Amino acid sequence: MGLPPFIIVAIDGGAASGKSSSSKILADRFNLLHVDTGSFYRHITYELLRRSVTHTDHAALLAVLPELKFSTRLHGRSAQMLIDGQPAAGEIRGRHVNDHVSHYAAIPEVRQALLAYQRGQVAVAKQHGFRGLVMEGRDIGSVIFPDAGFRFFLHADPGERVRRRESEGHNDSIAERDRLDSSRKTSPLTCPAGAIDIDTTHLTLAQVVEKMAASIAVKSD
Ligand code: C5P
Repeated sequence: MGLPPFIIVAIDGGAASGKSSSSKILADRFNLLHVDTGSFYRHITYELLRRSVTHTDHAALLAVLPELKFSTRLHGRSAQMLIDGQPAAGEIRGRHVNDHVSHYAAIPEVRQALLAYQRGQVAVAKQHGFRGLVMEGRDIGSVIFPDAGFRFFLHADPGERVRRRESEGHNDSIAERDRLDSSRKTSPLTCPAGAIDIDTTHLTLAQVVEKMAASIAVKSD
């Protein structure tokens, strides 16, 4: 008997749509590497701000991006991105990064710089003996892994998403980030054709997870 096929679960959606909580639970349940690509964009943003490279300074960006060396270490089941061997030295979920991240993420060269690294998480997952990976972001099912076996798109009413962030103690510019992420030219936030679209507004986390787990279990056993 051969090895069971490697599973790729792609979860896209706007800020506070429920991606992180649900993907962490799926990672535990199906023995998957959890990859939060938002944290990658956040870490790059933190690093560029630290180097005083603004998102409008295209020449400086083009000079700095090839210098950044990405690697991965595991934090539990989650992939943590290192830049030049280091985790971010400060807060990547605070106001400063929240206010800038979508501007950097709209730049094609920034997205290009992360493309191979994100796809390379398959090798990281295999190397560490995971059965597959669950990757969350904005363009996973559309650009990073369009052929993923499982593609989900989560959304929720804006009011509910603000309430969720506040209950986590975060002050986040959700509406503005979603506006920028949905309207950019390169890899905009959108429900990819063929993905399973789930409205999480009136669902508990357990119900969201059950919907996804049911379809994964049926097709992967
Ligand atoms: O998921 P999270 O809200 O932490 O993502 C932070 C920001 O990173 C998003 O608002 C978006 O601008 C960017 N992002 C992206 N593509 C991804 C993941 C995140 O553009 N795949």
